[in-house]
Amino acid sequence: MIAAVPEPSQVPSPPIRLACTVVLLRDGADGVETLLLRRTPAAVFMGGYYVFPGGALVDEDHDAARDHLVGVTPAQANARLALADGATAFWIAAVRETFEECGILLARDRDARAVSASRVSTLAADRAALNAGTQSFKAWLERHALRVDGGDLAYFDHWITPPKRPRRFDTRFFLARAPHDQHASPDGIETVDARWILPHEALSLADAGTMPVANATQFVLQRLAQASSVDAALAAARSLETIACNRPCVAQGGAGARTFVRGDAPYHEIHWCDPDESTQGTYDLVPGIVKRLDRHVSRLVAPNPGPMTGPGTNTYFVGDRELAVVDPGPSDDRHVAAILAHGAGRIRWVFCTHAHHDHSPAAAMIARATGAELIGMPPPRSSRHDQTFVPDRIVGDGETMNLGDVVLTALHTPGHAPNHVCFRLEATRMLFTGDHVMQGSTVVIAPPEGNMRDYLDSLERLLRIDVAIIAPGHGYLIGDAHDEVRKLIQHRRWREERVLDALLRHREADVEMLVDDVYPDLRAVLRAPAMQSLRAHLLKLVEDGKAIAVGDRYRIA
Ligand SMILES: [Zn+2]
Repeated sequence: MIAAVPEPSQVPSPPIRLACTVVLLRDGADGVETLLLRRTPAAVFMGGYYVFPGGALVDEDHDAARDHLVGVTPAQANARLALADGATAFWIAAVRETFEECGILLARDRDARAVSASRVSTLAADRAALNAGTQSFKAWLERHALRVDGGDLAYFDHWITPPKRPRRFDTRFFLARAPHDQHASPDGIETVDARWILPHEALSLADAGTMPVANATQFVLQRLAQASSVDAALAAARSLETIACNRPCVAQGGAGARTFVRGDAPYHEIHWCDPDESTQGTYDLVPGIVKRLDRHVSRLVAPNPGPMTGPGTNTYFVGDRELAVVDPGPSDDRHVAAILAHGAGRIRWVFCTHAHHDHSPAAAMIARATGAELIGMPPPRSSRHDQTFVPDRIVGDGETMNLGDVVLTALHTPGHAPNHVCFRLEATRMLFTGDHVMQGSTVVIAPPEGNMRDYLDSLERLLRIDVAIIAPGHGYLIGDAHDEVRKLIQHRRWREERVLDALLRHREADVEMLVDDVYPDLRAVLRAPAMQSLRAHLLKLVEDGKAIAVGDRYRIA
């Protein structure tokens, strides 16, 4: 009988081992070069791939760090790697693995001098013993009076191997300048080729399929391709304040199984929905299909995709036995039917973040069908707001509402609309942001109801609130909530600077005259909303005393 091949979902992921990688650099005639090693094609893990030198930590690296590491204290190393303890071992492992795998020795002698090439060649015989594990690196350093200088290695990146691979590593990446007179040579066992190469050349070969590299290697090569010199690359690495962990995730969808890295739109949602890394989560935002996001929350995308709504409006179901619907969406019979079908007999409350026509018109329809209570803030009297949204209960800022098994807290966030409210689910610190923060595009601020200064104040407010993840009105869940909000604030300030620059150039101008200056390369469909946000910026500048309105025109104050 032939054993059944397990489905990918049944293959357990191996334990994750701590590891380090060393990106060696040198200044070449055509720019910064880096050293790539070709792994033996026979290797179980990434056979035939081109990799930077590196490998897993061993227990002894900790002992060696205690006695043979200078230039970085345990406290500094732990802070740099954001670890509670034991970070210095990565510096030792980095130097050990580099020597074992490619024969380049980054250690220094007793007088803090780099080891000369001629001396390294006399030590070459020891390499095989170190590789085989018959010689301890700590003892070897001792015997040759060598030490590792922490300043020779600049920590700059952090990657974890995706799930369901034969080996998984939690790898810290270091940059180091290669000693100018030492030569790289593969060990002939794990690595069969050593090659100095320009990062963009390696990327072209990787694209052409002749130099296979892992995700992480590709991203590191892209970053290296920007560096003008080894000094510049090292300085850039040392100037990084925080280094986020990149833990690629795998999910299923229309294009089959796909891997996502930090920076890809679905990355944080996949991690949130699939914390055990089953790889069976989904990445498509499909209207009409309810997706469970966690124990308390599911999401249904409305069938109203478009330039202003992205993949469609997100309708959320919140609760366990009894349900609240957050942002029921447009008055679309299919969507309303899908909400009623999913929430059959359980919908007790309908919350609206605001009353734009893509968010609230279904609210009255759901309330009529279920008797649910409508909750939110009343909209301004304007055709741009859905006048059918008449809340049964008007929420106050900071008000907490018990919904059977879960608790929601309201947060008044005017700016996009004066009645805009965000809701925080206390159990998981998920924040439903409606159109205050949306994924994939910036929010339109349309005066007179939209107000740029209120909007910026409301963004600042989110920075003072503990948020684990953002559930926006459009697009995927958004992680790194505070970083994302800071980026939005920065983006608006940058845009305001552009408006001031344009005003200086034009002396006096209306919105129509300014829009192409402030928003170059604008798609025609986004021209009208861009003009609204531009007017909001101008009105804020007038309020701030930086500009003066003269009829429909504006000039610098
Ligand atoms: Zn809106």
